[in-house]
Amino acid sequence: TPASAGDQVRADFPGLLTADGQPWHYLDTAATAQKPRQVIDAMSRALGEDYATVHRGVYSRSANMTLGFEAARKRVAKFIGAESEDEIVFVRGATEGINLVAQSWGQANVGEGDRIMLSQLEHHSNIVPWQMLAEGVGAEIDVCPLTEDGLIDLDWLEANLTKRHKMVALAHVSNVLGSILGAKRAARAAHAVGAKLLLDGCQSAPRMRLDMAELGCDFFVFSGHKLYGPTGIGVLWARGEILDEMPPWQGGGAMIDTVDFGGTTYAPAPQRFEAGTPMITEAIALHAAVDYTEAFGMENLFAHEARLVRKAREALSHFNSIRLLGPEKSAGILSFAMEGVHPHDLGTILDEENVAIRAGHHCAQPLMEHLGVPATARASFGLYSDESDVEALVRGIERTQKIFA
Ligand code: PMP
Repeated sequence: TPASAGDQVRADFPGLLTADGQPWHYLDTAATAQKPRQVIDAMSRALGEDYATVHRGVYSRSANMTLGFEAARKRVAKFIGAESEDEIVFVRGATEGINLVAQSWGQANVGEGDRIMLSQLEHHSNIVPWQMLAEGVGAEIDVCPLTEDGLIDLDWLEANLTKRHKMVALAHVSNVLGSILGAKRAARAAHAVGAKLLLDGCQSAPRMRLDMAELGCDFFVFSGHKLYGPTGIGVLWARGEILDEMPPWQGGGAMIDTVDFGGTTYAPAPQRFEAGTPMITEAIALHAAVDYTEAFGMENLFAHEARLVRKAREALSHFNSIRLLGPEKSAGILSFAMEGVHPHDLGTILDEENVAIRAGHHCAQPLMEHLGVPATARASFGLYSDESDVEALVRGIERTQKIFA
């Protein structure tokens, strides 16, 4: 497990060293994960000796590339427990996945007077696409509040969903607080009023065992770069019968059946949603990333990161100046505020100690408003994180406290 194999695991990640070869305490995995050699090598081979386009070439290199690309789709389907690889749409990232659903499914299914349910802790990418849809069709947005410890309040959700709600779109795991959604309960509540549930799985896909049938959601999105894969690729999963009904989104090559100036017909899903030359090398590297990550056992990863968060919470609770945010039970992510020290200053001082944290609003301004802070400091863990990262964070905070005292 990563807990016992720390150094060996870290050796897989060239990004975990500073420019002068010192250990880098990278605590910003929730923003983007470092990549193991296995992923870098897979991407390098795909861009090099294996490179060719997919789907069109009759020559063997292209046929092999197509096999590699479609094998990645199959691998992702297995990773998230999808019923079929035809339910997997490759997109540029979670942001694009949500925009696709909002525009394709949304335009067809949300009308004037309808409502969309979001929550107070959503990432901007799970807010703005819905606002754009709502403005266009004359729908309204509701915001589910949080419980005291920073969870989406499912009692409130159940009490306030109505038949007018067509979509409930919620973060599976908060990128700021690490709070874990009771997804099954949210799905039951959404379905009870005839609404669909979209889960933003950006922070759960790298940390939790996923099974689409068990979660009960209708849409699920995540980004490859947070799952130890490359940027430029993400996944939209939608239940097959929903995806089949969705109108095309972007038009172009590869998404059609026949093109005629008298009228064009479209390919079945998922190709209908993948216009243009796809992210071939990224998909192949994502396949390697899923293989690498899942080999640790997703339950082990979750437990590993949860243990590091507990350790960090415990250590930081001894500082009177620190206010810990979010629930005790957090999936690898810890936000906090330090009295009298702006998170950016803290981040800068920690950087001098080779500790990288995130400081800011984390693309979740409504959540900052709720917490009553303009920004937070955030430490987030990954499969390569270990105790030494927590210790370096604590040392850096001690030094910051001395500087500001
Ligand atoms: N949702 C959550 C919860 C996230 O953490 C992020 C990335 N910070 C996103 C959505 C957006 O992901 P991307 O920028 O990769 O599209």
